[in-house]
Order: sequence, then structure tokens, then C-alpha cells
Amino acid sequence: MTPPAPADTPAPGAQHGGVIRKNLATLPVRPHWRADAPAPATFSWSSMRERLAGLPGGGLNIGFEALDRPVRQGRGEHVALHWLGANAGAGAERAGLAGLDERRITYDELRRLANRFASAITRLGLARGDRLFVLAPRLPELYVAILGALKAGVVVSPLFSAFGPEPIATRMNLGEGRALVTTPGLFARKVAPVRAQIPTLSHVLLIDDGSGPGPAGTHDLGALLREAGEAGENFECAATRPEDLALLHFTSGTTGRPKGAMHVHGAVVTHYATGLYALDLHPEDVFWCTADPGWVTGMSYGVIAPLLHGVTMIVDEAEFDPERWYRILQEHEVSVWYTAPTAIRMLMKAGIALAQRFVHPKLRFVASVGEPLNPEAVAWGLQALGLPIHDNWWQTETGGIMVANAPAFDIKPGSMGRPLPGVEAAIVERLAGGDVRLIDTPGTQGELALKRGWPSMFRGYLHEDERYRKCFAGEWYLTGDLVRRDADGHYWFVGRADDVIKSAGHLIGPFEVESVLMEHPAVVEAGVIGKPDALLGETVKAFVALRPGFEAGEALMRELMAHARKRLGAAVAPKEIAFAAALPHTRSGKIMRRLLKARELGLPEGDTSTMEGAA
Ligand code: ATP
Ligand code: MG
Repeated sequence: MTPPAPADTPAPGAQHGGVIRKNLATLPVRPHWRADAPAPATFSWSSMRERLAGLPGGGLNIGFEALDRPVRQGRGEHVALHWLGANAGAGAERAGLAGLDERRITYDELRRLANRFASAITRLGLARGDRLFVLAPRLPELYVAILGALKAGVVVSPLFSAFGPEPIATRMNLGEGRALVTTPGLFARKVAPVRAQIPTLSHVLLIDDGSGPGPAGTHDLGALLREAGEAGENFECAATRPEDLALLHFTSGTTGRPKGAMHVHGAVVTHYATGLYALDLHPEDVFWCTADPGWVTGMSYGVIAPLLHGVTMIVDEAEFDPERWYRILQEHEVSVWYTAPTAIRMLMKAGIALAQRFVHPKLRFVASVGEPLNPEAVAWGLQALGLPIHDNWWQTETGGIMVANAPAFDIKPGSMGRPLPGVEAAIVERLAGGDVRLIDTPGTQGELALKRGWPSMFRGYLHEDERYRKCFAGEWYLTGDLVRRDADGHYWFVGRADDVIKSAGHLIGPFEVESVLMEHPAVVEAGVIGKPDALLGETVKAFVALRPGFEAGEALMRELMAHARKRLGAAVAPKEIAFAAALPHTRSGKIMRRLLKARELGLPEGDTSTMEGAA
């Protein structure tokens, strides 16, 4: 049975402008972050740091904290990674043997495998600070490689396995990749054609996929792990310092060419704290983060944070499929689920009847990140899963969740929540000369800024020092996102500064317009842009994708226009609505408004390497 919704929860669909109230007494687990709890009041990053193990002499290593610390705390036999192969029926029970469709790997096994990997790459000559790229489907070896490299002090840079040869070569050159872990198939199709263009690349490690010996100039990862032997399992973790580089993450490329954000081992303190306060992880949880480790969400919360908390994490190799996803939630008794608005909208599109064929007795907390979560989607959670969806906000640059709706707090649907303990947020206006002015008035819109000092703040953009410097005004990191804060301290996403539309003196956030369009039963997704206009500056144009069963046409367009005007007023409502079979997305699921705009205006499309469907 799904835990009952708190008694004072309004009926689904009735939340607009309202609040979904939480009743602490009915929550199945006592949340870590509560208004009445002492923890946030006494919160300090140093107290969080003290909960981690650390290395002798003040060192800190993400891989060590993720694997050795739980093992030392007695969680060695607990399942760390429950892997579902693409061919696995989600429920298929198989023994934990390599090559089969489902594997359960305990903390101690994962630690030993990661140590073998660390030992193997060290023997190959990789040294601290060298860069290792990973380009692989969500296979257990991917996780072994990431954690092993971190333990060896080697910097990890994940690539999304759907990238084509060009984006791979560009990123590996930018990051000066010395080693690459990939599969024989991906190597043949995507790396071999460009290998000569990546002069720094000395070692290619191939994950065994049963296709036989790899081509000359590559290593067999399985053989390397075997050769590392039991001695390799005792690999001594590199003595990394908190400020040593650990991860290099390329941004999603939603607004332009992806940037390489550099993260340090000290970020693990944020991963730990946000695992507590934003995701509310408890040791008995089964946690599923649906993001691929090619993106920062899939790394911070699909690899690191769950292991820090000793939970079992589900890793599904397969791509999105509504029925499979519901089945995983049900059959593997997921208790905490972290996903993205696009996925939720696709589940909504698949219909409520499908959702209601499944039950989720253990599911207790559902969170989402990556794009604004429209109120309809929050309410859909109540209907389909028995739980509202909790939006949270962060970016590649912040390394971890910064603003969140956590389980103990009421939700205002459409709001991204409040700053987490340890995060100081403000709303600012940029002034000429690089200074900023703080805006304190509730309801006023401005740029979201974060006070320096949280441990997972990025330490630079790769080879773009000037761009990095420009992200800061004194103590404030400027996020490039426009938000509003209400009198209760909830933050509301307005739009990316680049996407905001200026029409007849109004500043219009695309999200507000998109959200209203998605209230209409015909609309499953909407993307809104500004079109240059001689008189008004810009006019609002919306692109909408329809739910199955709805016909694009004049009548529906008029109906949508009328709905938008009624809800938004004539000044903000779109002047034009176009139907689209699908909207362009990044592979991490974000609507690419810049592409809608470029196409509308007949301008060059710019960098499309991260676009869904691009090879
Ligand atoms: P690029 O910087 O290359 O254009 P990107 O900003 O999409 O790409 P990410 O770092 O993956 O790359 O995404 C972070 C951005 O995603 C945030 O700055 C914000 O615009 C958006 N975002 C993330 N979470 C939310 C949320 N809960 N609500 C609204 N927007 C969000
Ligand atoms: Mg960005």
C-alpha cells in the first residue's frame, strides 16, 4: 500500500496557488531535515565533514568515503549496487554472476573491485591528476571504473554513451584524457574513427561484452582486473587533499557550447549533506536515481551520495520505458526515487491507467531535478504514486542540490523549495562594473546567487578562467537563473536569464507560460520563446506537444490561446502557438529553447552535440 496522503492534502489537481501540507505524524520515516530538528540549526559544513572518515593527515577522497567508510561501519555485506541489465525483466531473479541480467554487488565487493581497478590503472602508469574518461552504458564496470579511478587520485570525466565521435573527441581533447573506459562496440563506432585526433589518449580499457578480443592498442578490462589479483584489492587509497581535482563534468549544453566544470574531492561533504537533507536517505532505503552518470546528477546522486549513506542503489541499464519503470519501482521496492521532469511528463503521457496498475508500498519520497516542475506534474505524483513530487534545484556548477523541497516541508506546487542547510541564497541584480545589488523585497524577481563556501562549488571552467571569474561578484556566485522568493522563503523558478522574454516592458519567464499551457489536458509539453518584434521588443511564441488522442488544429489552437489569456492576461499569453510532434531536448532531458528560437528565426543552430537524437 502506498502510505496514505496526509489528511489535509487537497485533492489532486486542486493545488494551484495552494499548498500540499505535510503531516509529520503520517510520514513513514522521520525526516532528517525538519523545521523543529536541531540539525540544521547547528549545521556547519565542518560538522558534516566530521561525519566522514577522511584520510590520514587531513586528506579526503570521494571513492574512499563511498566504499571504505561504509565497509568499516559494518555495511560490507549490504547490497550497494543492484544492477538491472537491459535484458532483465525487472523482476527476474538471477544469481550475482557476471554476464547475467541482474547483479547485486555488496559494498565490500564493490570496494574490492574498485581497488583492483585503481591498482590496474596505476600499473598502467596513470598518476594522480591524470584524466580518465568513461563512455559506457550503465554497466557495473562503469561504477567500478569511476570509483576506482577516484581512489587512485585520477580525475574522472564521464561522457554520455550516446555522444557521437565529434563530441567525444572535443571533450577528451579539452580534458586531455589519458585513458578511456568504454565497450568494444562504442570504441569501434565512436572512438576508433577519431582516436588519431586525441593525441593524449594512451590507454583504452574495454569492458568485456562477449564480442571477443578487442582491437590492437586496447586493453581488456576484465583481464586487467584479474591480473590485479587479490593484492590489488588491498590498494592503498591515494592521499588526495580536499582541494584536489576529482571530477570534470561537462554541462548539458542547453544554452550553448558545454562548459567543463571542475570539481574537487572536498565536494563529497556536500554529497553527504544533501543526501541527508534533500534526499532524506536512511540506511534501509532502496534508492533509484534515473540519471545517467554522464551528467552530474547521475554522478553526484547516481553514484556518490547513495553510497555515502550505505543504501542500496538501483542501476537500470535500459532506457526509459514507462511500464518498465513502474515495474522497477514496484518490484524492487524503491523507497526514494530521484528523477526528472521530462521523465515525469512522459509517464503522464503514458496515461494514469498504466500508473494505477502498479502499487508502491515502500515508496516514501519522490524528487525531481533538471527543469522546472510544473504544478500539474506535482499533482500527478499524488494521483499516480500516492506522493507529490518534490522539485529541487541545482546545476553542474554547484555540484550538489542547493534548493529543495524536502519531505518534512509543505510543498507549494511550482516552487523549487528552500535553500538547504549550509546554503546561503540571495536574489540579486547585476550592476554595471560587475557588482550586484541584493533584492530583499518578497516577490521581486532577480538572479539567483549563492554565497561561496559550500564544498561542492566548482573550482573553474576548464580552460575558461575569464568565464569562471565572471560568474562571481565578491562573495556571490551568480547562477544565471532568474527566480522569485516569496514571503515564506520559497524560491520560484522564472527562467534562465538567456531565455527570459522582454515584451512591451514586461519580463516574461518562459516557465510561467509553459506551466499554464501544460494545465490544459491536451498539452503534454510546451516550450516558449521570445520572437523579435519591432513594436513590443519581443513577442511570446509557444511550441506545444500534444497528448495522444488530441488533434492539432485551428480549434484547439484557439482554445489554448483563450486558456492562456484567461490564466496569464493578454500581455503575457503567447501571441502565437505552434504544434510540434516533439520538442528538442538535451540528452539530459531539458527543452532546448535556444534551438526552437534559432529554427524559428532561421539562425544557425549552434552546438547541438548534447541534443537528443544527435549522433
Ligand atoms: P548549459 O549551462 O550548458 O547551458 P545547463 O545549464 O542545462 O546547460 P546543467 O548544469 O545540467 O546544464 O543544468 C542546470 C540548469 O538546469 C540550471 O541552471 C537551471 O536552469 C535548470 N534547472 C535545474 N533544476 C531546475 C529546477 N528544479 N527548476 C528549474 N530549472 C532547473
Ligand atoms: Mg548552465
